[in-house]
Amino acid sequence: MTSVAEHQRAVAELIGRLWRPAAETLPLGAALGRTLAADVATPIDLPPFDNAQMDGYAVRSDASAGELAVTGHVAAGDPVGVFPGGAVAIMTGAPLPQGADAVVPVEQVGSFRAVGSTIDLAEPTPAETFVRRRGSDLPAGATLLPAGARLGPPQLGALAAAGVEVVPVRARPRVLVVSTGAELAEPGAALPPGKIYDANALSLAAAVTEAGGIALATSVRSDAPAVLLSALESAGPVDLVVTSGGVSAGAHEVVREALAPRGVRFGSVAMQPGGPQGLGELAVAGRPTPVLAFPGNPVSVLVSFELFLRPVLRGARRSERGRLAASVESPAAKHQVRRGRVTADGSVELEGGPSSHLIAAYARSQALVHIPAGVEHLDAGDEVEIWRIDD
Ligand code: AMP
Ligand code: MG
Repeated sequence: MTSVAEHQRAVAELIGRLWRPAAETLPLGAALGRTLAADVATPIDLPPFDNAQMDGYAVRSDASAGELAVTGHVAAGDPVGVFPGGAVAIMTGAPLPQGADAVVPVEQVGSFRAVGSTIDLAEPTPAETFVRRRGSDLPAGATLLPAGARLGPPQLGALAAAGVEVVPVRARPRVLVVSTGAELAEPGAALPPGKIYDANALSLAAAVTEAGGIALATSVRSDAPAVLLSALESAGPVDLVVTSGGVSAGAHEVVREALAPRGVRFGSVAMQPGGPQGLGELAVAGRPTPVLAFPGNPVSVLVSFELFLRPVLRGARRSERGRLAASVESPAAKHQVRRGRVTADGSVELEGGPSSHLIAAYARSQALVHIPAGVEHLDAGDEVEIWRIDD
């Protein structure tokens, strides 16, 4: 039996070897959630000029006590001027007149006075007070974001602040999601006796999309290997194929029967749910393409995705700690992934049992709860690793 860590490495190695993401150039407004394909440097100093951090008066620190003449007024957007001495009324973000080196907040003076009047300052103001220096956030030419950075709101804001208009990003991986099984019915259609609705085509495609991929979902509602193979043969070029179902030791294991003779390896990973797994490469549209074969139960599919595919597509979930609200048993030989809710005081209440068909309980859950191989029993109050899945 393969360990979870070994299978994670094998998946990452296979995809890393076969998937060479192309780069494309996008305007910032279309780049949310994308990953930079190259380092991006700021073309300008951030901030681009010395400016005031507060509404107040620009002064020279060595002449900033006693009675000062109000000698000017500068607002955000005004050009950079030369400090004429005295005190210059200045607004937040306005360029600091050259020669001034401190800003006295208006609150310290009481109010803004007209040019030509005076203000009275009891104390001198030290140099650099409420001054935002040019380049103090990042100097021009320095790396603003490295290749591989994911572009969320803060990253897009930083790029926009630097005046960057377009960015090089990695192409989104195209992922063919294939659910399989003669028992599958399409949601919305009638449910004949003995059939179940196909949960996995939707859930896996959504998981791929959320992780930044382009999901192309197809359902093979059959256990005939020829039907699956013809679906794969008619597929266009993709970066990755993920199947659900038909991988365990039963009699109608369509994915295993179709793909094992073509070199995809099937085996058991020491985990629950999600033990039976397949991994290999297959020619799809004439290109060697990585194939991940997940088991069919709806919880197994999503847990497999979280453990093996999400880390490659987007990065693993953040590992957090929680305390169990109640004791739990787990098979010693397997890494068990339970599902749970996290209460206000941070304790973890398991939701539903360990069985992998409990998709409704999974949908009520907020976290995956990891019970590593080698652990058979945990008491209420014991610490566990959790991954939040509700963000
Ligand atoms: P299999 O791995 O094909 O033996 O499937 C394991 C279990 O998952 C069986 O109970 C299947 O009916 C169920 N299953 C397989 N595929 C799906 C699917 N796409 N949606 C919901 N349940 C499924
Ligand atoms: Mg099946």
